[in-house]
Amino acid sequence: MNTNDKKNPVYSNTDSSKVTLRDDEWRKILPDDIYYIARQKGTERPGSSAFEHLKDKGTYYCAACGNALFVSDTKFDSGCGWPSFYQPISKTSIIYKTDNAHGMKRTETQCGRCKAHLGHVFDDGPPPTGLRYCINGVVLDFRKAKEAEKNYTEKKE
Ligand SMILES: [Zn+2]
Repeated sequence: MNTNDKKNPVYSNTDSSKVTLRDDEWRKILPDDIYYIARQKGTERPGSSAFEHLKDKGTYYCAACGNALFVSDTKFDSGCGWPSFYQPISKTSIIYKTDNAHGMKRTETQCGRCKAHLGHVFDDGPPPTGLRYCINGVVLDFRKAKEAEKNYTEKKE
C-alpha cells in the first residue's frame, strides 16, 4: 500500500532505468517514514510491519521507486521481527554493501534501481539459498498477484 500523498515522479513498477536523486530531492517526494529508512538507513521497530506475517501471493516493490524486489513465494517467517525473504526477484534487483556500523560486520541491501536502504542479508536463512533478507516493511509496497497482473495487462494495452 503506497500511502504517499506527495508526488513521486520516479515511482514506476515497469521503468527499470536507474534513479539518481539528491538527498533534498528525495526528501521532497518521499513520505517521512520511507525517507527515514530508505535514505537515512533507519530501521523500523521490530514487529511493527503488517508485512511481517503476510501470506498473500504477490510481489513486493521498493516503496521509494517501485522496483520489483521480492515475490511472496520466497518469503518466510524468520521470527526476527521484520519481513524476511530467502531470495530477491532477480540478481539485479538488489545491491549489496558492506556495513560496519554499530560495531557489526553486516551486508546491507539496497534497491538495485534507486539505492534505497532496504535492510540487511544474513547467511542463516532456509534452503535453497541459505540466505535471510531482513527487510524494513516501510520501504516495501505489496501488490497482490491478481492486482499486479491486471496492472500489467492495462499497461500493455
Ligand atoms: Zn528503489
